[in-house]
Amino acid sequence: MNNTWFDDHLISLDKAFRNERLHHGIAIFGNGGVGEVEFAQMLSNYLLCENSKAASACKHCKACNLFAAGTHPDKLEVMPNNGSIGIEAIRAITPFCQTSSALGYNKVVVIRHADSMTLAAANALLKTLEEPAENCYILLVSQSKNTLPATVLSRCLLLDLIVTKDHGRAFLADHFGQALLDKPWSEFFYQQPMRLYQDEFANFEQIDFIYSACLSICEGRITVQDTEKLIDILKQNLDYMASFTDFCLSYTSTMLGAKRLDFIEYSIRVSLIRDLEVTVANITGINIALQLQSFINQIK
Ligand SMILES: [Zn+2]
Repeated sequence: MNNTWFDDHLISLDKAFRNERLHHGIAIFGNGGVGEVEFAQMLSNYLLCENSKAASACKHCKACNLFAAGTHPDKLEVMPNNGSIGIEAIRAITPFCQTSSALGYNKVVVIRHADSMTLAAANALLKTLEEPAENCYILLVSQSKNTLPATVLSRCLLLDLIVTKDHGRAFLADHFGQALLDKPWSEFFYQQPMRLYQDEFANFEQIDFIYSACLSICEGRITVQDTEKLIDILKQNLDYMASFTDFCLSYTSTMLGAKRLDFIEYSIRVSLIRDLEVTVANITGINIALQLQSFINQIK
C-alpha cells in the first residue's frame, strides 16, 4: 500500500530512532480515514524488526514473521472494552514495559482509541510515560486530540496524519481506478481515502445509493421505498452517517450557490443536518428510522 503521506513522518521517526532520540510516547492522530491504525502498525513493525532499514521493517526476520502472525510477544495492544479503556488495562502496561523483551530488542504498546481512556486510566498512563522503560515505546492512536488530557499530550511526540486532496486522489486512482474518480461522491474521500478500505465502505453501490438519496431528500422528492432502503443501509452501518451528512451539507451549499435556497433556508437546513449528525453520534441505541424520517419531513 502506497500511503505517500506516511513517508515524511516515517523518515523523521527513523532518523530520531537511529540517533537514539526517539520519544517513548508517540500520539498518532487521524480523522478515521487517513490510516492512523495502519501507520501505528507500520511503526510497531519497524520498531520490533531486527533489520529495519530506511524507515521500514524488513518483513523477513523472525520478529517480522511473528508480527505478521499477530503473535509477537513484545507487542501489547490495548483496545476499549465496552466503549472505554479502564485503569486495569493501562496498569498492565507498566509490568509489560519493565520486563525484558522476549526477542532481546524493543517492546511496543499500541493503545487504540486512546481518547476512550477513562480519566483514571489516563492518569495511570502518565506515570508510565513519565518514567519510560528503556526500549519500550507507547503508541497512542486517536481520531481526536481534544479528548486526550493535556498532561498526556505534553509527554508525547504528537503526529498529525493529514492527506492532501492531491495525494488522496492519486491514492484512490491507484487503488480503485478512474471509475471511482468519476463517481460524484469520490472527492468526499480524497482527504480520508482509507475509509474506502474499511469493510463497511467497500460496497460502492451503497455509497452510490446514499449519495442519490441525499440529493432526492434535498430536492424534497425522495420516495417511500428509497427512504426505507436508506434507513436500512444506515441502520446496518452507522459509519455511513458521516458521509450521508457530508453529502447533504455539500448539496445544500450547491443549492445556495445556485440561488435555489435563500440564506435563511440554507441556515435552517444546515442546522438540521448538524443536529442529526450530533444526535446520531452521541446517543447510543437511537431510533435511526425515526430520526431520519423526521429529518426528511423537516427538509421538505
Ligand atoms: Zn524484520
